[in-house]
Amino acid sequence: MEKKNDPLGDLSTNFSKSEFRCKCKKCLHKKVLVSSLLLFKLEMMIVIIDEGLDFHKPVIVLSGNRCEEENKRIGGFPGSEHIPDPDGEAADIKVIGITPIKLGLIAEKVGGLRIGIAKWGIHVDVKTPSPSRFWVYMGKKPIYSAKIENKSLLNFYRIMTGKEGENR
Ligand SMILES: [Zn+2]
Ligand SMILES: [Zn+2]
Repeated sequence: MEKKNDPLGDLSTNFSKSEFRCKCKKCLHKKVLVSSLLLFKLEMMIVIIDEGLDFHKPVIVLSGNRCEEENKRIGGFPGSEHIPDPDGEAADIKVIGITPIKLGLIAEKVGGLRIGIAKWGIHVDVKTPSPSRFWVYMGKKPIYSAKIENKSLLNFYRIMTGKEGENR
């Protein structure tokens, strides 16, 4: 797909509009709207990720803004936080060399984020965590933490997957 030449870091220190733009053709010239709270939390995650490193590990945005049509097309949750209303409040991210659960635990450390753990990476958003703070995607279907374990992502992850999480 054609890439727009937005300058790097035009949303926040490490994030650009081009990374958050809806991936459908219709939205190529649409305004990119991302919650400044979400960007702040993502920047905080980068501080933790890069702690003690002498290089910067890029956080790859797999999905930022989505229009209704694109959200439907990729099978997103109806009313997804990826759809700007008025700002997009969600990001699907991954970091090369960091497992999704480890990345999720970094997001938990930052605080104030809802976190969905998937095979491809994690979903984070800044929506109020009621009823669920965490979920794990089993295939495409999210299993929510609310009734099981809403206090600790690692406990919830262990219950859901039977995996230890830390050392993988
Ligand atoms: Zn779109
Ligand atoms: Zn998402």
